[in-house]
Amino acid sequence: MTSAVRFQKVSRHFGSVRAVDGVDLDVASGEFFAMLGPSGSGKTTCLRLIAGFEQPTAGAIEIFGERADGVPPYRRNVNTVFQDYALFPHLNILDNVAYGLMVKGVGTAERHREADRALELVKLPGYGTRKPAQLSGGQRQRVALARALVNKPKVLLLDEPLGALDLKLREQMQEELKSLQRALGITFVFVTHDQGEALSMADRVAVFNNGGIVQQGTPQEIYRLPKTAFVADFVGSSNLLSPDLMALLGGDRRWASLRPEAVRLAGDGTEATVENVSFLGAATRLAVEMHGTKLHVMLPAGADVPGVGTRVRLAWNRQDIHYMDDAA
Ligand code: ATP
Repeated sequence: MTSAVRFQKVSRHFGSVRAVDGVDLDVASGEFFAMLGPSGSGKTTCLRLIAGFEQPTAGAIEIFGERADGVPPYRRNVNTVFQDYALFPHLNILDNVAYGLMVKGVGTAERHREADRALELVKLPGYGTRKPAQLSGGQRQRVALARALVNKPKVLLLDEPLGALDLKLREQMQEELKSLQRALGITFVFVTHDQGEALSMADRVAVFNNGGIVQQGTPQEIYRLPKTAFVADFVGSSNLLSPDLMALLGGDRRWASLRPEAVRLAGDGTEATVENVSFLGAATRLAVEMHGTKLHVMLPAGADVPGVGTRVRLAWNRQDIHYMDDAA
């Protein structure tokens, strides 16, 4: 496996703030890699370290096998798509996209040809003569992408690029980004605090908390086998079962997680009381209380939905109980 980006014990401290603290990372060439975590967990700083806008205070960074120390951003063969797009308002779309090539000294005809091709890639052919203000938010996002792709980077860094789009457009762009990445074979490193986005697009996900990576793995591993309660909770609103509750239910006296969709209503299950019912369209979510613990239960569409205050019985398969290292 060729490494596109490798971090060895990389730290970036700002005074007493440990923005990134001892991170090991290995992104494979051609991989779609997501950095997922809450605000302030260190994702953007990691991205800026790859781009070269930040230097590590400790540790080593390699990009395609070469030490990145002291290599300025424009020599890294890495491009960034920023959340606010950072387009030049006074330049038309074609010149916005061609900007990086102009800086490199590529002649007008060639850079316009390349920019046209990049605009076709992002499904905006013929938009070259417009100004950024004459485009929708989604179209501006595509221009920002074309502007990065025109440089033919080996690694494309994306910092919450879909954050400003509405839900429907975001879902459409998720699918387009994924197929574009597959077609071009470029390594994508994507920063997001939206777990749905990370799970749906990435080949692998690194979950960040407090400047460190708590878990790395495929979306399926992260979702089904969270190592800590933090991961279980952050990646998909899991139910956390305390060691006492687990012992009461006849399991091991350890922290465990149980996905809401793994719980069903069954006549011979454990008694609980329905406290709230939320209709979500494709499913219905119940908030229930069981032995003093609040749980969520996801019922599939079409299931009989009990009313608030009803006593119900809950069951799940033994293999859906996932024990964790700790509750941190
Ligand atoms: P968000 O999703 O909100 O962008 P993030 O996970 O990307 O969050 P970072 O932007 O990497 O987090 O920030 C990590 C921590 O480092 C935060 O506490 C932030 O305040 C701090 N930090 C980042 N850049 C600097 C800086 N230049 N000077 C001082 N502190 C900084």
